[in-house]
Amino acid sequence: MTAAGPAAPAGPGSAAGRVVLVTGGSRGIGAACAAWFARHGDRVAATTRGPADALRPPAGVPEERFLPITCDVTDPVEVEAAFGAVEERWGPVEVLVANAGITKDMLVVRMGEDAWHDVIETNLTGAFRVAKRAVSKMLRLHRGRIVFVSSVGAFVGLPGQANYAASKAGLVGMARALAREVASRQITVNVVAPGVVETDMTGALGEARVAELVGMVPLGRAGSPEDVAAAVGFLASDAAAYISGVVLPVDGGLGMGL
Ligand code: NDP
Repeated sequence: MTAAGPAAPAGPGSAAGRVVLVTGGSRGIGAACAAWFARHGDRVAATTRGPADALRPPAGVPEERFLPITCDVTDPVEVEAAFGAVEERWGPVEVLVANAGITKDMLVVRMGEDAWHDVIETNLTGAFRVAKRAVSKMLRLHRGRIVFVSSVGAFVGLPGQANYAASKAGLVGMARALAREVASRQITVNVVAPGVVETDMTGALGEARVAELVGMVPLGRAGSPEDVAAAVGFLASDAAAYISGVVLPVDGGLGMGL
């Protein structure tokens, strides 16, 4: 914070770029989103549960346009502190990418309440928590973009993913309700639904299972984190100003028709 108080919002089209917060920006899809925004001229805060100084700016992005933050989205105090840190450095968040997510796959008959709770708490309640905090300032700005990272798994409902599918389907309902609540302030709320994307999360499934899933993808390949980042970037762009409450699949056609 300066003597004059927290940084003032730069405003749309500002040369300084928009203020973007990506939860789970340390790796995979979140890291690709952080890189996408930073390379398109925005200032990007990216969160990890680990030490913030382990996160480096994406290649070619100057240190002053990248802010790594330690934040576990299951902890309301850490979420508040993360937003406080962004606001102190750059002003209010103008673009939120609620990406942080986990899986704890197992059949329902074996699923303990902890595995249910952990996934819902991170993927759905964590997203609610950051969206609520972001919206509180966006309402005053009369602008803002929120993108939730759901999954094709929300609609397919793969065996072993009752907790995950519930959390990711929950994001869709939440996004639509929120989209209506904030639309009059020119804030859009949208969802991307990735399919099979090459990250640590899919790596944990094992090569054979990934190959099986990729075999069902009409475009015949797994997605890259950059494929998802481009869709997120579009939904957050001026070009998508009239798009709100949509679910945009980024899945090579895997979930088509669902
Ligand atoms: P990764 O496992 O590669 O990365 C997960 C990210 O989420 C990490 O940055 C991790 O941060 C962060 N994270 C996990 N739990 C928390 C938490 N409690 N608080 C804050 N951050 C947390 O996953 P992906 O990149 O594959 O997935 C990103 C999103 O995309 C997830 O929501 C996932 O469900 C979704 N998705 C992924 C698909 C895929 O095929 N990969 C398909 C469809 C959707 P850190 O470990 O540094 O703390």
